[in-house]
Amino acid sequence: MAGLKLNHIYKVYPNGAKAVSDFTMDIEDKEFIIFVGPSGCGKSTTLRMIAGLEEITSGELSINGTVVNNIEPKDRDIAMVFQNYALYPHMTVYKNMAFGLKLRKTAKDEIDKRVKEAAEILGITEYLNKKPGEMSGGQRQRVALGRAIVREPKVFLLDEPLSNLDAKLRTQMRSEILKLHRRLQTTFIYVTHDQIEAMTMGTRIVVMKDGFVQQIDTPRNLYNHPCNKFVAGFIGTPQMNFFNARLKKEKDGVHITLEGANTELLADISLFTKINPAYLDGEKAVVLGLRSEHISTNAKAFPYSARCRISHYEDLGTDCQVYADFNTKNSEFDESCSKVVMKAPAGSVYASGEIIDISLDLSHMHLFDAETEATISPRIPELTSIPCTVNGNNLQLLETVLPLPEAIALPDGDYTIQLPPEAITVSSSSKSGAAAVFEGEERINNSRLLKLSCGGHTLYSLSGGDTQLKAGKTVYFTIDLKRADFINNGNECVQRSLPLDNSLTGKLIKRKAVEERTDANGKIKKDKGFVIDISTADYTAELPDGFGIKLLSSGDMKQLFLNEMQFHFTPYTVKLAKNGISARVDKVLDYGSERFAACTVGKDTVIVAAEGVSEGDSVHLQLDYGSLSVFDTVREILLV
Ligand code: ADP
Repeated sequence: MAGLKLNHIYKVYPNGAKAVSDFTMDIEDKEFIIFVGPSGCGKSTTLRMIAGLEEITSGELSINGTVVNNIEPKDRDIAMVFQNYALYPHMTVYKNMAFGLKLRKTAKDEIDKRVKEAAEILGITEYLNKKPGEMSGGQRQRVALGRAIVREPKVFLLDEPLSNLDAKLRTQMRSEILKLHRRLQTTFIYVTHDQIEAMTMGTRIVVMKDGFVQQIDTPRNLYNHPCNKFVAGFIGTPQMNFFNARLKKEKDGVHITLEGANTELLADISLFTKINPAYLDGEKAVVLGLRSEHISTNAKAFPYSARCRISHYEDLGTDCQVYADFNTKNSEFDESCSKVVMKAPAGSVYASGEIIDISLDLSHMHLFDAETEATISPRIPELTSIPCTVNGNNLQLLETVLPLPEAIALPDGDYTIQLPPEAITVSSSSKSGAAAVFEGEERINNSRLLKLSCGGHTLYSLSGGDTQLKAGKTVYFTIDLKRADFINNGNECVQRSLPLDNSLTGKLIKRKAVEERTDANGKIKKDKGFVIDISTADYTAELPDGFGIKLLSSGDMKQLFLNEMQFHFTPYTVKLAKNGISARVDKVLDYGSERFAACTVGKDTVIVAAEGVSEGDSVHLQLDYGSLSVFDTVREILLV
């Protein structure tokens, strides 16, 4: 039984191919995790790095709290099952299953007991004396599973174990593997390119593309809340319908125009509370996604109606899949950008070219940026936008007036304040803050997203100490203004939020070092070795031992000392000190309750939490190595 931690794992093959980038995930004991994605996306490479069959280029892999990067595969307590079974053809099933244990010098009776038990679990007892050549694909895969089971590993790794089997057998083996997981109560990691396998087997699924993790979530959340168009299109059959669209907010709701369609939709504004309002200007290109089950040929099934022209339909027995076009004048279905697939009851009959009224469930629509393809309506919204007014250094916002700290000073006028949900703190006590009505909360993985309404606006908050908030009751919220940005009348963003990511460019330097020690006879001995220095602007200093070791274990030595590095830290993980990196204070940022200094270091600017400094001061900075990240800018790899 084991939990795994994959921390910023990268794989670059010796030929330079970057197969896996920044894979970070905690896998809990007994989970059934699926890695899914198209061929070549890095699933097997990740699995092989966990098994120890492939070296990890950078990042850390822990099993049950122990870092295993440099631990031999055989000592990792992991068993792997491959697609091609990898059985020895000249050995009987019994011997194939016993072989690994024999190599490990397990006692004979113990081997016998484990092989017979595993054979029993898998229903292959009667084949123990047969050779693999005399068995079917499904039986051979059972033997391969048996060979893994007898090792009693902490983690099972399965690499497309069913892809050599026919469809019927695959379905049967799928449920057998699930039963096996329940029975063995261990962690399973399963690689597949088949989204149905992924959706039916995993407790959580990792969707990958081009070496990057796209989303890690439960099957249900992947289906209901895909984080981008790729995940939305990969999960679900038939594939989600996608339309190029524009959204325009008007008084009566949001007008949705679908490219090519001669139907316009007017959607309720409440469907857009999580969206960045910049997308509601009628100009920005978005992609609207809607699954076929959320479109019905019954004009009254859902609240939004539209009209379309039938192309053809397929009766699947359980229901009917209807292919149509939102452009009622179009007869070229295949080429059309307004084509749509929807559901109808089994037995439905349509004529090709028929124009029918249909209905849409827009509460299930998905919206993506047309360029980045990322969702623009994420479960945790990026920001809440509320109109406000600045008047004589006071901010008037939803019936409250807040004094504006110096760092935010803005010319008088009307603005829209943009607040990420982290900037709003909710409490049920009236001691401080503005009043709002608590609308409810959503649990999103480990976060609680609180929804408030105030003066006709919806606000979202990620921080509320109170767990006993009641829907419909009055609550009070405060705003952390150092996270706020403003949009002025001319629609330009006036950046006033405190940048939280600092970076300095520099290098890592390998320096010869000699360490003196006294041996058992009292003689002084010299040990030759090397230390790693960090060098940035005019500053060079030795890195703490542990940090240097971490860097060495996670990078190709030559590149480590050759490439330009970026050192990342926050305003809170750097401090003023007597000596350290030389910097000059360019500006003091006074946010009222906290002050920061914007400092120039060489050609970089960094922000430091600092009291008692003035513009023009020369200061020294010390980095907190416990939380420093190092990014190799050439290989684009996070090393620590
Ligand atoms: P998947 O399992 O998702 O099909 P892989 O992990 O096998 O993908 O491969 C990921 C990428 O790494 C692919 O582009 C593949 O060509 C490349 N790759 C895999 N193995 C090697 C190797 N030994 N040397 C170089 N490139 C490799």
